[in-house]
Amino acid sequence: MSKREKEPVALLLEGAWVLTQNRTREVFSPGAVALRGEEIVAVGPPADLKARYQAARTLTYPQGLILPGLINAHTHAAMSLFRGLADDLPLEEWLNSYIFPAERCLNRDHVYWGTKLAVAEMLLSGTTTFCDMYLFADAVAQAVADTGIRAVVGEVLYDFPSPNYGPPAAGLIFSENLCRAWQGHPLVSIAIQPHAVYTCSPDLLQQCGELADKYKTRLIIHLSETPKEVADCQARYGVTPVAHLHRLGLLTARLVADHAVVLTEADQELLAAGGTGVAHCPESNMKLASGLAPVAELLDRGVPVGLGTDGCASNNNLDLFQEMDTAAKLQKVRYLDPTRLPATAALDLATRGGAAILGLGPQVGALTPGRKADLVVLDLNQPHLTPLYDPYSHLVYAAGGADVQTVMVNGRLVVQDRRLLTFDLEETMARARELAQGIRDCSPYVAQRFSKA
Ligand SMILES: [Zn+2]
Repeated sequence: MSKREKEPVALLLEGAWVLTQNRTREVFSPGAVALRGEEIVAVGPPADLKARYQAARTLTYPQGLILPGLINAHTHAAMSLFRGLADDLPLEEWLNSYIFPAERCLNRDHVYWGTKLAVAEMLLSGTTTFCDMYLFADAVAQAVADTGIRAVVGEVLYDFPSPNYGPPAAGLIFSENLCRAWQGHPLVSIAIQPHAVYTCSPDLLQQCGELADKYKTRLIIHLSETPKEVADCQARYGVTPVAHLHRLGLLTARLVADHAVVLTEADQELLAAGGTGVAHCPESNMKLASGLAPVAELLDRGVPVGLGTDGCASNNNLDLFQEMDTAAKLQKVRYLDPTRLPATAALDLATRGGAAILGLGPQVGALTPGRKADLVVLDLNQPHLTPLYDPYSHLVYAAGGADVQTVMVNGRLVVQDRRLLTFDLEETMARARELAQGIRDCSPYVAQRFSKA
């Protein structure tokens, strides 16, 4: 070995722990990851990797835990501008009096800067990929490209006119243009995103499905989020939302069902048979009092499940460490059984589960050779993480996004020592404060509540 030439790599990261999240959940302690360009070359004990590779640069974290970058499987990033606008209200009042009036004022500038604000929060708390559904998705995609995070992006489509593309038919054209414009981009992929079964006609849903097939991309929809949605769908179409999509031929592995809270046994079987993914958003479901999704049962049936925060206005943060903690605990409450959704399964949701449902399985979600170098170093040198017996336990039940020290996306350092390297955080926050004034003026209810920013 000593006489053989060492293979050159760009970077070697060493930590106290490496959690690979590969098929066998391999763990190395201490551990190291070797990178070249966008990709992971090798993962293993530091001594082995140092014997095989000559690294141009080495980053050493004696108290660092290296894990795959987290994947936020469902959010509306630019809603970061609406955080704390209105809370603790019935869903209808929350939407009609606060969120919809504010959204009617939105333009491309709001969405661009609101997305950048959300990306700053996500990168600093260890999220390296997010799936976004919103208006002005071209501005979302641009913000992703400008900040260096990875994302699946889609324009929200429905039966009524949009402040972005105008009449409903133009939404499909807008989405198709997005698919064409971003094809082959290393960080941005486009999905087709009809809003929900109660805002989209069967005809629109089928056209969305055809477009997703044509571009071999994901079809993503809010599905069975609340008891009211299910009751209304039963009244209108005579079936549950899941069965409605099944009837339309859309319940396939291409589909991602956001929320999937209110499900019958038959719905769960349909999801499993279709290979349809679910994006579980526990904190949003709790805050809007939508209910408790049967995630443990879905996993038992083999349904792929990822984890999402949903928009900031119904969470109210984008911290996936908190979301994992909540997800794990909520399943224990749902089944009154503390063995449901253990820490390892909660971490799966936020890593390889999210990658699988978004169609990014071969690229991200685990630290294995050939995958993209999307990773996080968590700083274990903290009172709430000392001592450490089980890294999965700490990640899910004790750590928070603020413990993230270093983040890489696609082989590029984007956060180092808790500082963003790829764009100006102060400028982003200043723009968000400016834009908030206009948002306040859009809603008489908000304007009345407090007079200052
Ligand atoms: Zn949502």
